Amino acid sequence: MEKWSDEAPDVVQNLREIQHKISEACIASGRRPEEVTLLGVTKTVPPNRINAAISAGLQNIGENRVQEFLSKKEKISLENVKVHMIGHLQTNKVSRVITDVDLIESVDSLHLADAINKQSIKKNNITNVLVEVNIGREKAKSGIMEEKLDELLCKMGEMKGLRVLGLMTVPPILNTESEKRAVFSHMYKLFIDIRSKNIDNILMNVLSMGMSSDYIEAIKEGATIVRIGSALFGKRG
Ligand SMILES: *Cc1c(COP(=O)(O)O)cnc(C)c1O
Repeated sequence: MEKWSDEAPDVVQNLREIQHKISEACIASGRRPEEVTLLGVTKTVPPNRINAAISAGLQNIGENRVQEFLSKKEKISLENVKVHMIGHLQTNKVSRVITDVDLIESVDSLHLADAINKQSIKKNNITNVLVEVNIGREKAKSGIMEEKLDELLCKMGEMKGLRVLGLMTVPPILNTESEKRAVFSHMYKLFIDIRSKNIDNILMNVLSMGMSSDYIEAIKEGATIVRIGSALFGKRG
């Protein structure tokens, strides 16, 4: 068996800095640091660096590709770690991951929701999911348009094999702090509007938004999960 050295002092240092900045952003906006979950995004990151972060206290990781996750997972110390699927998920891959992941953040169609529901029922499971919203209405991005959200959520609320915890978004690349905050604030408003509709079986407690370049702004606008890759593990190759 291959031996991995799990020492990566840069990753541990980055983790400490990010945790500190998350706390500061929470305090600055009158929130408790426990309200925000740091998800370490591990796409393309080798297992030893992931394990270094886990040893230093990272409790949640996010992978984009089913294939990559399955090929790495034996080498990752997952005992006390939750795994989120955050990339576009093909329906034919659903059965291979639903027993391995704690949350699928990237549900963006009825078709995919149906597949997760059916496979979960078959495995006697309830899968936690978020619905991904294309908040910037970008052609190249996944996620559903906000005006289609209610209809999808009503249908998902009837599915016994899944539980909708909230929403996720990958916003457009924005430069100024005020532009970033405006987009996140729009997303938060959508989240609160839906929550107030009390759709059957739709919880709306989780709002996943903010990445390496904008997680501070996202926290200030109400994010409960921030998904951080490059600021934690370094630039992807
Ligand atoms: C890669 C990725 C991230 C992390 O991006 P960074 O800018 O490296 O922090 C977050 N969310 C999704 C969906 C991603 O694909």
